[in-house]
Amino acid sequence: MPDVFEIVDKDLLGRIGRLYTPHGVVETPTVMPVINPNLRLIEPSEMRKYGAQMLITNAYIIYRSERLRQAALSGGLHALLGFDGPVMTDSGSFQLSVYGSVEVENAGIVAFERDIGADIGVPLDIPTPPDVPYARAREELEITLARMAEAKAYAGEMLLAGPVQGSTYLDLREEAARRACEIGFDVYPLGAVVPLMEAYRYADLVDVIVRSKRGMVPDGVVHLFGAGHPMMLALAVALGCDLFDSAAYALYAKDGRYMTVDGTYHVSQLQHLPCSCPVCSGHSAKEIAETDEAARTRLIAEHNLYVTFAELRLIKQSIIDGDLMEHVERRCRSHPRMLEGLQRMMDHSPFIERFDRASKSTFFYLGPESARRPEVLQYSRQVENIEVIGKALIATRRDADTAGFDRVFGVKMPFGVFPPELNETYPVGHAEVTDDFGCEARDLTLGRVLAFLKPHPDAAFTFAFDPKWESPVIDEIAKAAQVKKLF
Ligand SMILES: [Zn+2]
Repeated sequence: MPDVFEIVDKDLLGRIGRLYTPHGVVETPTVMPVINPNLRLIEPSEMRKYGAQMLITNAYIIYRSERLRQAALSGGLHALLGFDGPVMTDSGSFQLSVYGSVEVENAGIVAFERDIGADIGVPLDIPTPPDVPYARAREELEITLARMAEAKAYAGEMLLAGPVQGSTYLDLREEAARRACEIGFDVYPLGAVVPLMEAYRYADLVDVIVRSKRGMVPDGVVHLFGAGHPMMLALAVALGCDLFDSAAYALYAKDGRYMTVDGTYHVSQLQHLPCSCPVCSGHSAKEIAETDEAARTRLIAEHNLYVTFAELRLIKQSIIDGDLMEHVERRCRSHPRMLEGLQRMMDHSPFIERFDRASKSTFFYLGPESARRPEVLQYSRQVENIEVIGKALIATRRDADTAGFDRVFGVKMPFGVFPPELNETYPVGHAEVTDDFGCEARDLTLGRVLAFLKPHPDAAFTFAFDPKWESPVIDEIAKAAQVKKLF
């Protein structure tokens, strides 16, 4: 039997993987549409049409209904839903977080998930919300971890998810991930992140994901529980999330909310539909807004699914092409709070760089955040090891006189020192940058030039710069012991 998860391609912390389940192989990253067993807006058997490979439903809702429970126990979960692909079940943790209590024990619900034939089951963990007192987050984490260990005895052949909790305490998230991996699970859901997304706290979300990843085994399958808006999928995939679930496609549709990769519109405000899916090609905005509620909900839910899976396909293509970072940067410019998420992601570049692939197709400079990409950090280390002996020229000016120097270096924004022999290599040789850069990117670039001088104490540098590079960092470069001349 192969491992449960196989990584076939990667970019940043994102990856395309194969998840092996009892009901077939799933290509990740993917979104699992949430099926409410009582209220099927779109039939599970139709879900493949939109791009879904795997579904998620709630074992607790099935358990609590006599009719559904008996049907699931006698015929199995897949027959109940009318879907022969992989199905994950949640345990009632969500109901626990909303209502404060549930009428089931951990061992009982895990055994039930197993008995109805769920492909992946979840223990009854405690989703600790953001910003609670530390002592509560710690206490609930210990209960969750004890229940996770207990669940192992009841899972049987079912794949088991080990939720990572810890509220907004990053040390707890990292510890929770590490201890979950020590117990050993097939999927690691990051729990209780929905309140962060609802409040547009994308920077905090980035921290929670990255710190959880730090504690986790690198090939652990990560499920960002409750996340499924197409706007934020690229960011989450780039940070290493493999599975998502979306109740939002249906919940949004009920309120007339129409998803796009740039955010959400209310369908009554739309005069034009910015999408070419079968729903939007076949209807005008006016038709959708004016039809009866049931039909409108159904149409918007279908569109929401189409747009979500279209975005996932684009993300997967970006991973294959090695331009996921460019894709994330574009998406994160859809909202100021998403931009904060991107900036926070760049704070984590030293960690991301350790896992990133060495060579990609492109490096497009798309804004000051591009100057802090993991590839730039990797490059800085690479050039620091270049041997420099004798007289060396570092020139931002193309007309600088190079006569009499043993080595000549250019300067390329945002990388810093640019040896001509790297002209054909990634990233510096392939980078498409702007000549009209701002002071933030300029100073970061010059800071990298300064850092390049330090490992070369015996070389004598001359620094020739163009007036547009004028900066306080130039003064620091002028003071460096290795710099003999500056003009
Ligand atoms: Zn559409």
